[in-house]
Amino acid sequence: MELYSGHINRLIEELAALPGIGSKSAQRLAFHLINMPQDRVNRLANTIIDAKANVKYCKECFTLTDSEVCPICANQKRNHNLIMVVENTRDMTAYEKTGKYEGVYHVLHGAISPMLGIGPNDIKLKELMVRLKDDVEEVIIATNSSLEGETTAMYISKLIKPTGVKITRIASGVPVGGDLEYIDEVTLLRALEGRVEL
Ligand code: ZN
Repeated sequence: MELYSGHINRLIEELAALPGIGSKSAQRLAFHLINMPQDRVNRLANTIIDAKANVKYCKECFTLTDSEVCPICANQKRNHNLIMVVENTRDMTAYEKTGKYEGVYHVLHGAISPMLGIGPNDIKLKELMVRLKDDVEEVIIATNSSLEGETTAMYISKLIKPTGVKITRIASGVPVGGDLEYIDEVTLLRALEGRVEL
């Protein structure tokens, strides 16, 4: 005999499939959603559908944006010859919050992880190499200091070296395994200023 209705079971299953949500949280959320007023449920569902339909990759840096080119890439006051490579849009936001970085970004949408079966072709690496054909002076690798982040940094470094473009890595002051988005702005700035050439 099913404990809950089939509809609730499906809702719990969908929620539990999201990252960071275990089966207990999924159950709690499912019952919370069912008890919410109809208009709020509609608003939430429509917000998800709208976001999915309208958010796209910036055609230059591949961050998530509502327009063809994101506001940072569209800003001519930024230094377009300085590219900081980050794992995801959240990391980019963390650096933007410091307000001190003048260059542009490149968002990989992941990191190389042989263990998870994520290879160089599964992240936006080819797209980065295409951008290097312009007058790029320096590529700053700001992937996380996790095993995956370091593997990705090494891989990118080997890939870019032959092009002659200067390539640097943010300082290792960033705690090992630390997610960039959880690190305070002062530490991020110190990591950026203390970057070393690879
Ligand atoms: Zn962009």
